[in-house]
Formats: sequence, C-alpha cells, structure tokens
Amino acid sequence: MRGARQDEVGSVETFRGPVGSRDLGVTLIHEHIFVRNPELEMNLPDGEWDQSTAIEAAVAGLTDLYERGIRTVVDLTVPGIGRDVRLVARVADRVPINLIAATGWYTPDVLPLYFQFHGPGLTIDRADPLVDLFIRDIRDGIGGGGVRAGILKVMTHPDGITPDVARVLVAAAVAHTETGVTIATHSDPASRNGLDQQEFLRDRGVDPERILIGHCGDSEDLDYLRALMDNGSTIGMDRFGMEHVLSDERRVHTVVALLEMGYAGQMVLAHDAAFYSHVTPPSWRAVFAPHWRMDTISSRILPMLRDAGVSSDEVAQMMVANPRRLLEGTA
Ligand SMILES: [Zn+2]
Repeated sequence: MRGARQDEVGSVETFRGPVGSRDLGVTLIHEHIFVRNPELEMNLPDGEWDQSTAIEAAVAGLTDLYERGIRTVVDLTVPGIGRDVRLVARVADRVPINLIAATGWYTPDVLPLYFQFHGPGLTIDRADPLVDLFIRDIRDGIGGGGVRAGILKVMTHPDGITPDVARVLVAAAVAHTETGVTIATHSDPASRNGLDQQEFLRDRGVDPERILIGHCGDSEDLDYLRALMDNGSTIGMDRFGMEHVLSDERRVHTVVALLEMGYAGQMVLAHDAAFYSHVTPPSWRAVFAPHWRMDTISSRILPMLRDAGVSSDEVAQMMVANPRRLLEGTA
C-alpha cells in the first residue's frame, strides 16, 4: 500500500489562483459542473439548458457541499464535452469551495476535423496543437484567461485506443512530462481498459503513480482493480449515485473489500455528477438517477462505509490525502 507523501508541499491551481495543497481538504476529484454541447444547443435546443438556472443550481449545490465539509471539487470537464471556464468562473466567484479546472480532450474515437488538418505532416504542417493546448492551459491559463488547469484528463472507450485517442494520450503524456500534472482518465472497466491506459502512458514515460484511472467503481472485478493499483496507480471509485449502472450498496461493498486488503492509499471517492448535463438532463436524472448528486457521498455513502467498519482515518486517506498527493507536485 502506498501512503500519502505528506512531506511534499506544493501549490495547486484553482479558479481563484494557487492554493496550498495542505488547504485542499476534503476533495471530490472527479465531478462536472456543466457538461454541454453548445453547437447542439444552438441548433437543437433541448429546452432544459438555461444559463442562469444552471449557475444558480451550481452555486447552491457547491455552497451546500462546503457546509457538509467538502473543500475542493475538481471539474474534469474538458473540450469535447463543453468546457467553458468563463461560465464556471461565474460560479467559482460566488462559492467558498476550491474549484479546479482540467485540460485534455474528450473523444471516444475521433478528433474534430480541425485536428485532421493541423499537426505534424498534415496539411497545415505544424507541431501538434493538442500539445500546445494542454501545456498552455496548465502554464498560461485556459483560453488566455486567468484560470490554469490543475489536472489532465483523457479517455478510452470500449473501442480502445483508436489513432485519434492515441494522439490525445501522447499529447497528455508530453504535457505531463513537461509540467508534472497528474493524468486522470475516463476508462471502461467492463473491457478492463484501464490496464491499456496504464501501459500506453507508462510506455511514454508517465509514472503510473501519476495516473488516476477513473470509473473503476463501476467494476466489481477485484483482480482487475488490484492489478491497476499494484502497478502503482490510484483508482477512482468515482461514480457513487450512478445507480443506473451499479447500486451504491455494491459500490460500497467493493471499496470495503479493497480497504480490507490494504488499498486505502490508492482509492479516491467521487460521483462523476454534474449540475447540468445535456447527455443526461436534469429531468431524466430526477427520475432515473435521484442519488447521482455531489452530496451523495456526504449524505449516504459515508454512513454506509461507517456501518461497514471503515474508519475515519481511511475516509480521510481517500478523500484528503490521496487527492492531495495526485494534485500536488506540479513542476
Ligand atoms: Zn467524468
């Protein structure tokens, strides 16, 4: 088991500038403020997106989380699913919680046409604009604004590492090597493809300890989950409340089993929830996923863990020390 490297004190970029990593406190490391597709909204409005309603929902929700003791929320929304840091900044300005932005690109298969034409050996023959984007977001701020990304996010789907997904992973590995920022992933546990992510990134120089394999909480395959951790990575038990995929009882059961095997130092807890998502809009969530909210760990899951004998030290390890270890250490 790997413990937190408490001796390493760094600062972490948030929407309000750098925060000492000791001050991150209880952290939800895989959430989304708004998941959108502005082009789709312009052309096929679904009637549910209303900017001021969404902002008010996020402000109220994050204020409530702060009152429950959460101090930091990482917004793993990247381009491809509607990252809009100007909009999130309007939320961040009104809440006491630390919000952390991410960079990366979200695609399960192919990149936008722009990237087919811009890059090494392509029509507009230049360095890969993905690398520029990631490094600029981390070093200079997103879109030339003042918000610097504090984490990288990549994904692979059941389709696996397609040529374009590989390009994103390579660009993330380069940005990681240059900046030290941790790589968080969206994985597909059903195809055990966190192992492919680990191998691909490790082959490109990324220490598996600096990789957070996301969505592992969807899996009950202990051998798979232990293999990811034994290779050095931290795993995201990060979809509490997503009961349309797997019940919270079963998610808790898996966490407890892995804690009993000594893996407290390599798990983090979150929801992968959103205050608005055009993919699964609020009206659908209210009916089919009522617990898929960012307060579910505080209100439902921590009592379930306690009842199962999990100690407050183990909870602090998963919700304070492990996120801190992943978020600090930016070069
Ligand atoms: Zn997510």
